[in-house]
Amino acid sequence: MLELAKIPFPEVARLAESGKALVILPVGVVEEHGAHLPLGMDSFAAEAYALSAAPHLEEAGYEIAVAPTINYGVARAAIDFPGTLSLEPETLRSMVVEIGRSLARHGLSRLVILNGHRDKYHMKALEDAKNTLAEEKGSQVLCVGFAHEDEITAACYRDGVKQFYKSPQPDREGHGGESETSVALHSFPEMVNRDIIKTLDANFDYDVEAFRNETKDYWSISSGRGYFGWPQAASAETGKQLVTVRGRNIANVILREWGFPQS
Ligand SMILES: [Zn+2]
Repeated sequence: MLELAKIPFPEVARLAESGKALVILPVGVVEEHGAHLPLGMDSFAAEAYALSAAPHLEEAGYEIAVAPTINYGVARAAIDFPGTLSLEPETLRSMVVEIGRSLARHGLSRLVILNGHRDKYHMKALEDAKNTLAEEKGSQVLCVGFAHEDEITAACYRDGVKQFYKSPQPDREGHGGESETSVALHSFPEMVNRDIIKTLDANFDYDVEAFRNETKDYWSISSGRGYFGWPQAASAETGKQLVTVRGRNIANVILREWGFPQS
C-alpha cells in the first residue's frame, strides 16, 4: 500500500502503467463527537478503515494508493458545538470532482471514496461527485463507508458487527457512542480522553428518528452532550474487531462491484 503524498512522481507513472492501481480517498469532517473524542474522529476512522481494507484488495491483485484525506465536509447537525466546521455541499462536491479528474489525467482511473461521516448532505455531495466523474468517463468511481445508498452503508459498516457490541441498547448507539469510541480507543487512543469517558452517562433516551433522519440538530437532541449511546461500553478490543470486519466489508463491496483487475 502506498500513500500518494509520500511517493515521487515516477512511482505514480509506474502505478498507472501497472493497470492495477486503485486509489482510496478517505473523507471525514471536523465535527464534535462528545467531550471524549477528537473533532477529527470521522477522518481518522476513514483512514483506519482504508488501512484495514487495503490488504484484502492487494490480495485480489490491486495496487493500492491512499490519497491524502479530505478532512473537511458538510456538518450541519452539530454546527452549534464549538469546533464543528461545515462546508457547503457544492464545495465538497467540487473538491472531489477535481481530485478525481486530476487522478484520471495521470492514469489513476479507479477511485474509491471512503467516507467516515454520516450526514445526508455530505453523502449526497460525494454521490454527486461520483456521478459527475462517471459522466465524464475519465474514471470509475465508487462511494463506500457512509454512502448515499443505504445498502452500501449497511454492507460496509453494519454487516457482521452486531455481536461485538457490549451496550445494553445497541440499537441506540450512534454518534460518539460505543462504536466510534471503540474505534478511537483501538486506532488512535492517544486522542481519547479516558478520564472523561468515566463521567459520561448512557444517553439512550433521545429522539432516535430525528437523529437517524437528521431532522433535528445534535445539540438539542443530546441536551448539549454531543454523543448518542454509551461511551463507557466501548473498548479497544471491540474497536479492533470493528475495524477488522468493516475493512473486510469495504473490500468486499469494492470487489463485488469491480471484480479483480485485468492483468
Ligand atoms: Zn462520526
